[in-house]
This record gives sequence, structure tokens and C-alpha cells, in this order.
Amino acid sequence: MTKQSNNQMLKSALDVKASKSVIEPTITVQRIKGAADESNTEKCQCAIIRADQFSMYYGSTVGVKDITMDIYPCSVTAIIGPSGCGKSTFLRSINRMNDLVPHARAEGKLEVDGQDIYDKRINLVNLRQQVGMVFQKPNPFPKSIFDNVAYGPRLQGVKNKSKLQHIVEQSLKASALWDEVQDDLKKSALALSGGQQQRLCIARALATKPRVLLMDEPCSALDPLATGKIEDLIEQLKSSYTIVIVTHNMQQAARVSESAAFFCLGELIEYDNTSKIFSNPSKKQTEDYVTGRFG
Ligand code: ADP
Repeated sequence: MTKQSNNQMLKSALDVKASKSVIEPTITVQRIKGAADESNTEKCQCAIIRADQFSMYYGSTVGVKDITMDIYPCSVTAIIGPSGCGKSTFLRSINRMNDLVPHARAEGKLEVDGQDIYDKRINLVNLRQQVGMVFQKPNPFPKSIFDNVAYGPRLQGVKNKSKLQHIVEQSLKASALWDEVQDDLKKSALALSGGQQQRLCIARALATKPRVLLMDEPCSALDPLATGKIEDLIEQLKSSYTIVIVTHNMQQAARVSESAAFFCLGELIEYDNTSKIFSNPSKKQTEDYVTGRFG
């Protein structure tokens, strides 16, 4: 793609977003009662995720270094940057997925909801229920649609059948999938289309009532139609959840996020309003990246 057409597409993505408040969403979702929505409005002034000189190393390799940034509730933050710059490392650090990598080591501070998540006393199961994650490739369990969504609540100790049914229904409604699957809840999740599987994975994450939803290139394996549905869903979910999304697609970042963080070589180069990052960045490195000069 030429530099000019890249820039034109970015501009039109920002223009579409600017006018979006008057556009009816193409899908409707329902909030889960008791999710972060009620409390978040009051807390919107306080950061929900705070990184303070946070670094993650894999042995001697730097994943990310000295990241200091605050992420606010009920917002979408996009993490952008060239391959290998630490986007996924930072995202996975927020629910300690990197613990699974041998020789991974964290330094500095990373807080979620005021808690130092690298404190040894942190309960990882609870953390991952509070901070849900959706991956690049939809990864439903080889179970029924119902059992996929009920998985987390069951782990949390919910046994009552009608309560589970209620949670499953609410979560599937919140991920805009209910209308398509309500008569097939016993069907294998693997029989769904890729886009449906990704919305199922979002429902599975929402079922544990998280405050934060991490999305690691959630649309990169999807076709444009399914991508549009996920982007509409993100727009709907952000009133109740804090969403952090890694994306390679800059038009997508411009469309879905309010804030954008540009990473390069493991460092946070610039973090600002998305429109500023894409139209008038402060750093030359950011400008070079968003205008397609490198990356
Ligand atoms: P991005 O998501 O921006 O492509 P990553 O976070 O995947 O970047 O990678 C950042 C750096 O950390 C790269 O140098 C990469 O090689 C390294 N890295 C990522 N994951 C691992 C791992 N599991 N083991 C060792 N090094 C890793």
C-alpha cells in the first residue's frame, strides 16, 4: 500500500470514529449485571492499570523495558508498533500470562485496580478472571457452546444450574452471539464460524465478570465482516469494561481506540489520544511509523 493511501485510510478511519456517536451500532449487546459498569463511572478518574517502570525480560532478551503508563477504566487503548517491539509482552504481562514462559522475569511495578499483580500473594486464577484475555486465533475448548461459557463461573464455584444458565445467556448477549446460538447451546463450539468462535471466546471471558479485557490481535484471523462485528462489539463493551487491544492494523486502532501507545524496541515511545498519535504525534519515531515510513 502506498504511503498516501495508507494516510488517507487512517484519516477516514479517524473521521468515521469522530462521527460514530451519531451512527447507530450495527449490533446491540446487553450489559452483564454486576459487571464493572456500575462502579466504573465513579472511578473513571483513577487509572485501573498502572505500569511504573515495568520491564519484562525473557532470560537476557528484553520483552519490554521501563514502561510507565496509566490506563483508565471504560476505555479502549490500542498498543501499536512494529513486530517484536513488545506489544504482546506488555499485554500478556497484565494478567501474568508470561509466567508460563521459562526464564521470564518482571521488574518494576504493574498494578491492576490498585493491586501489585507481581506481588507473590496474588491469586493467579482470580487475577485472570478479573483480567480476561482474547487471543489472535479463536481458541474455544472442544466442548459445547454452553460449557465454554460456563467454564469460568464453574471454576469460581457456581454450581446452580439456573444461575449458570443465566450467566451463559447474559454473556452470550453481551458478546452479541446469543441470537445466533440460543437454540444450539449443546452444539460443539468447534462447529461455529471463526468470527462466532471469537465472539464465543469473548463471552467466555465476560462470564467471569472481568474488569479488564485484553485482546491480542483479535481480528487478524477473521474476514472483514467478522472483523466489523468484533469492532462494533468493542465499541459496545467499552462502556462497561477497560479494553486493551494489540493490533497491527492501524485503521483498526484509529477506529476502535481512544488512546494509543506506540511501542518500539521494547520501549514506550509515545502514549496519547489516538487522534493525536495518528494526526499530530509528538515524536518523529511515531510519525515515521504511523505514516508508513518504517515498520
Ligand atoms: P510484538 O508483540 O510486538 O510482536 P513480542 O512481545 O512478541 O513483540 O516480543 C518482544 C520481544 O520479546 C522480542 O524480541 C521477542 O523475540 C521476545 N520474546 C517474546 N516472547 C518470547 C518468549 N516466549 N521467549 C523468548 N523471547 C520472547
